[in-house]
Amino acid sequence: MTGAVLASDTARQSRFPVEQERGQRAVFCGLTSIIWLHRKIQDAFFLVVGSRTCAHLIQSAAGVMIFAEPRFATAVLQDKDLAGLADANEELDRVAAQVIARRPEIRTIFLVSSCPSEVIKLDLGNAAQRLGERYGGRVNFVDYSGSGIETTFTQGEDRCLESLAAQLPTDTSEKLSLMVCGTLPDVVEDQFARIFEQLGIGPVRFFPARNSDDMPPVGPNTRLLLAQPYLGDSARALISRGAQLLSAPYPYGAEGTSAWLQAAATEWGVPASTFESVTAAPRARAEHAVAVQTRTLTGRRISFLPDSQLEIPLARFLQRECQMELGEIGTPFFDQQILAGELPLLPEGLRITEGQELDDQLDRVRQLQPDLTVCGMGIANPLEAEGLRTKWSIELVFTPVQGYDQAGDLAGLFTRPLLRKAQLGTQIWN
Ligand code: SF4
Repeated sequence: MTGAVLASDTARQSRFPVEQERGQRAVFCGLTSIIWLHRKIQDAFFLVVGSRTCAHLIQSAAGVMIFAEPRFATAVLQDKDLAGLADANEELDRVAAQVIARRPEIRTIFLVSSCPSEVIKLDLGNAAQRLGERYGGRVNFVDYSGSGIETTFTQGEDRCLESLAAQLPTDTSEKLSLMVCGTLPDVVEDQFARIFEQLGIGPVRFFPARNSDDMPPVGPNTRLLLAQPYLGDSARALISRGAQLLSAPYPYGAEGTSAWLQAAATEWGVPASTFESVTAAPRARAEHAVAVQTRTLTGRRISFLPDSQLEIPLARFLQRECQMELGEIGTPFFDQQILAGELPLLPEGLRITEGQELDDQLDRVRQLQPDLTVCGMGIANPLEAEGLRTKWSIELVFTPVQGYDQAGDLAGLFTRPLLRKAQLGTQIWN
């Protein structure tokens, strides 16, 4: 991953050891993020150039979307494409023309590469440029990689936004503006927009926007607040366009949300009394909602296997606000720049592992016997069969969990598997 601080550097600088593992991994690929990205950007079409496996992955991840006309598709590479006998670009041009003719409302087409298209070195950057010139002004073409080679599923969004960042208009305004970067459910975005307005912070723009024509400008007066902890490359692309990153914890839980809002409030010079009067009531509601769940979570031990890149902020929330005990925290990548606001809040001596050696990590989980293990879907069933309770990390990305009003729901996601175990009173798979 470009620009990430290596764990060995971090270990020297931080208060806890960060171990690196570079072995077998069990994660979904970046194509998965198309599901939440296409819900967010409502006039975008995602055209994956891949295999039947890629098509099956998105179709099953999208679930009920098959009943609507979806805004994603897979241009399936055939054997002759893979053997280099056909010009895949011709086929791509044909499919793009079909999408544009059939869906006149589409304003952006993302060309998403996959393992097969990258293996045959199909240059989607060139294709995006060629198609962009052909349909200039009517449809924008953006290419990015959703490939599963050495990636994790949230990186799909990082790569998508990194590519989009290069195309954003330049903001030459003298006035400060806030860019919130990272896909948020519309309901959460609206809540944050209201709070920023009450604090007198603005203009506030969300990236990605709901429509292609509303993508925000970026420039030296853009202040950048990340809403998701897996957007290191997007952040660096925006910083290279002049934006300044506001370091903050991520908006999980009452404490995380307050600190995240405070980072913007400090930049805008919002008086402490204003901040308090705007945030006191929603913060109190969030604290109460979390406290209800904390009765189940207090003293329970939780481990994370590396999957979503949400692991470190969630571990902070669960330890500080829900009184859980932390076991090992695995994360696919440890990017010190975008985790700078989180690291001081973690307990000393915590074991953080970057990357994965699956068998070794599972052995450590078995030895530790945590009350709950957050992991990918493929690992959850075997662990459940051994009597360990699990939580699918992908649920945390598909559920609205950021902000004050979602803090109780976020804690509730972790209580449910524990309550289920208590209700069943036995290890069901044994
Ligand atoms: Fe599989 Fe790669 Fe396609 Fe993802 S991009 S579904 S990992 S072949």
